[in-house]
Amino acid sequence: MVSLIQSLVKLHLERLAAEDVKLDDFAPRVMEKARAIQQKYSPFITLDENLGSTNRNAQKLPFSVKDNICTNGLRTTAGSRILENYIPPFDATCVRQVKSAGGFVIGKTAMDEFGFGTFSTNCAYGAPKNPIDIQRVCGGSSGGAACVTAAADFPHIAIAQSTGGSITAPAAFTGTVGLTPTYGRVSRWGLIDYANSMDKIGVIGRCTYDAAFGFSLIAGHDPLDATSLNAPKLDYTKVLEKDIRHLRIGVPSEYFNADGVDPQVKKLVWDKITSLERFGATYEEISLPSTKYATAAYYLIALSEASTNLAKFCGLRYGIQGETEGNYENYFSSIRERGFGEEAKRRIVLGTYARMSGYRDAYYIKALKVRAKIIGEFRKAFDRVGAIATPSMPIFAPRFDEVAGLTPVQQYAMDIMTTAPNLAGLPTVSVPAGESGGLPAGVQFIGDYENEGTLLQLAAACEV
Ligand code: GLN
Repeated sequence: MVSLIQSLVKLHLERLAAEDVKLDDFAPRVMEKARAIQQKYSPFITLDENLGSTNRNAQKLPFSVKDNICTNGLRTTAGSRILENYIPPFDATCVRQVKSAGGFVIGKTAMDEFGFGTFSTNCAYGAPKNPIDIQRVCGGSSGGAACVTAAADFPHIAIAQSTGGSITAPAAFTGTVGLTPTYGRVSRWGLIDYANSMDKIGVIGRCTYDAAFGFSLIAGHDPLDATSLNAPKLDYTKVLEKDIRHLRIGVPSEYFNADGVDPQVKKLVWDKITSLERFGATYEEISLPSTKYATAAYYLIALSEASTNLAKFCGLRYGIQGETEGNYENYFSSIRERGFGEEAKRRIVLGTYARMSGYRDAYYIKALKVRAKIIGEFRKAFDRVGAIATPSMPIFAPRFDEVAGLTPVQQYAMDIMTTAPNLAGLPTVSVPAGESGGLPAGVQFIGDYENEGTLLQLAAACEV
């Protein structure tokens, strides 16, 4: 592991050496560059201004961390005003792992409040701008993570997180590589929950190698997380050497023929899939009929869980505090009114409604049944194929004014490619498929449980 970090850093140091920078100056120099990126694109909520003052030699590989993942001594807001003063006294397991491998955290990346969004425009501290075109969004909810990855000219890996597509969407819109692992593959200990049955911590990198490398550091069993998988720790950079000969790729018609898929996105993704034939992979059309219900089921389940999770932020033990006036209910309401943004409030109401007695069977329980059906269809598909390929997002990165013109339901509908695999807890990778008019499109590969290796091989093949 260490030698890999060293090789990445060596590359950068060689570049810096040309500018006469010593190893001692590495972290401060990276911070200087991070501040410049912040000024231009605003990907960070908090930058670690103290970096470089202590133990400089141990600080070898720069990481950014999505702001819903706890970092010891560094403010962690989950993109929400309700946590604006929260400074965790501990590191999340994944942060501890990268630090012990020699990594250092340059800052906390901007995100949709609690992960509620597809475009990183529901951000309490400002929306990150897409480095490809600052009029356009980065995608969400891990928009800051993808933004800094696309903008950084130093070795860097972003620790990101997905519930229903928050790694895939921003990776596709910024032309980066986003790996969303199998549910349970990376410990969620220290993550501020959105929807516990779907939340996954993953990585965004400049290229597949970076994503594989970052993932190798953070994947593994953690006794502190009861849903953590007991799978062996692997070096995923090694799997990149294997080829994809004889791999059968399933291409589900429901994803390509869904409403609103940009024909140009479709074309780029198809071209990318067919180009894999030169490595000996084959593809065949498959059907995943319940896909059309996935987004509705996802939002019912995700918001039911989210509304429960957010109940604790009321200014008593969790969240900002204020003057106590009136009774407890008045106090809690005033804190929640002030602390939560519009989308968080909408989701609390929707989630609470779906769980209410009388509506529970019609909405929440029905959504769970759809989820079981979706899982069954994927299971059947993986009896035939080794991976499934779809567009990552149905569209190219939209402009801020275009997103502002969409209703919430129109925004939710953009998650059509990502909700089903996330409901099923399956791993996915998004890798650039090409570009049109300067804007990148992503191809998403969905793998069977714990089969991140195949996804990374496919992603690597897409880069050749
Ligand atoms: N866009 C989806 C949502 O708003 C997914 C976001 C996420 O993965 N956190 O819920």
